[in-house]
Amino acid sequence: MTQSAPAGSEEIAGYQMSIGGESVDALSGNTFESNNPYTGQAWARVPDGDEADVDVAVRAAKAALDGPWGQLSGAERGKILRRLGDIIARDADELARIETQDNGKLLREMSGQLHYLPEWFYYYAGLADKIEGEVIPSGRSNFLVYTRHEPVGVVAAIVPWNSPLLLMFWKLAPALAAGCTFVVKPSDYTPVSTIEVAARVQEAGVPPGVFNVVTGFGPAVGKALTAHPDVDRVAFTGSTQTGIQVAAAAAQNLARVSLELGGKSAQVVFDDADLDAAANGVIAGVFAATGQTCMAGSRLLVHEDVHDALVQRLVDRVKTVRLGDPLEPETEMGPVANQAQFDKVMSYLDSAVEDGGTVAYGGAADEMGGLFVRPTVITGAKPGLRAFDEEIFGPVVCVMPFTDEDEAVAAANATSYGLAGGVWTKDIHRAHRVAHQIKAGSVWINAYRVVAPGVPFGGFKMSGLGRENGIAAIHEYTETKAIWVELTGATRDPFVLG
Ligand code: NDP
Repeated sequence: MTQSAPAGSEEIAGYQMSIGGESVDALSGNTFESNNPYTGQAWARVPDGDEADVDVAVRAAKAALDGPWGQLSGAERGKILRRLGDIIARDADELARIETQDNGKLLREMSGQLHYLPEWFYYYAGLADKIEGEVIPSGRSNFLVYTRHEPVGVVAAIVPWNSPLLLMFWKLAPALAAGCTFVVKPSDYTPVSTIEVAARVQEAGVPPGVFNVVTGFGPAVGKALTAHPDVDRVAFTGSTQTGIQVAAAAAQNLARVSLELGGKSAQVVFDDADLDAAANGVIAGVFAATGQTCMAGSRLLVHEDVHDALVQRLVDRVKTVRLGDPLEPETEMGPVANQAQFDKVMSYLDSAVEDGGTVAYGGAADEMGGLFVRPTVITGAKPGLRAFDEEIFGPVVCVMPFTDEDEAVAAANATSYGLAGGVWTKDIHRAHRVAHQIKAGSVWINAYRVVAPGVPFGGFKMSGLGRENGIAAIHEYTETKAIWVELTGATRDPFVLG
């Protein structure tokens, strides 16, 4: 997948990217292959774009701002968004299968995700005609002052491989509702579903040039996009390390930036918690998607009185988790998405043992071959244990016992990340008190890893900048303009005193 190859040399599906409403190859003619993580085989060949393709796509997006798209009312954009939601709902199973082939996540999980994603288009369709300005009392009686929220312009979206369409739609829906145009670079591990969406965006009635896809690699396509002078806003999801580079590149043109980055989120389980519910929530929070979610609840803090009981419940359940073909309905956990990710997970497991942790259950599933890791529970964790402090992005939970609430809060916040957290307790006072103290963008009480289009999502600290979802996110894609109207018609000569 990491090599460029001449097009058409093998019997695998060939794809083109989408620029200005046309399906096109890279200008260089280069391609690369996308692998299925379960089979290890290449299954798709896509264009390997570069700076030149980015330039054509951004120019198409810029021109489209002044075309028919720019003339549409919010209500008309809303109708298009609703149609797009219907089309994604119609094709959810097909798109889910493509995502599974590209990233190895369970078909049933991707299918559930794809069937829910139209809600983002419906939600922002409802907002497209409600982007209202205000009349401002300026304190000057001879002026009427009002604001307009105008589309920010060309949006560059860059997304990772773990949930390519979800993370793209979280940006696309508000961007289209606001009247922006869009250029997206999917991860080189998962380019196909985004390419497939391009035809559907056009089918919904979005004019050519409004939605463009450039496939290729981060250092070529991603970097060129973030540094392009005609990109007005960069919406990025990925690692913190890359996010910092993206923000620095965008700063050269003062492009607006939002960053949804990594996490190392704590789940705090108190001694009065319903342990069966907590065990289910912890398992769903860290082992769903093979642990490859930004909000994985991978730091488990458990009151010492229930520590052993909860760990036992976790181990008993994860021992029965069925690893296998992500396309099979009975499979409960698929492989990790690629070799680099597998190696990273393994190195964290080694370091956890070196740092004094104990693998209560888990490790590489060698008998499965390929990229399988068992759901892994590490006990004896404490700050300083690398696997407890750093994002692994794999099916690994590290468990630390605590004695009192203050210690739990301090440990939950002892990380540079601040994406999410969970609190498990039946004490309503403590539930809210602790939720308020956890420094993270989302905290669930007696639940974990639930999202909805209307609820803001994003990170504190090194987990990001800005928020996706919710009403306010539409203004991530608008610029506010103040209009001053002089009411008397008697503007004076500025050089005449008195
Ligand atoms: P990366 O940061 O490596 O890549 C993310 C995207 O950025 C990819 O499309 C990548 O391209 C591209 N990219 C790489 N280098 C550059 C560059 N210099 N300039 C511009 N773009 C570039 O992350 P991963 O793909 O490894 O994804 C996992 C990370 O994403 C985890 O840290 C996870 O926490 C985070 N994440 C955050 C979420 C959130 O909402 N907060 C949600 C999901 C994931 P390519 O890969 O093609 O080279």
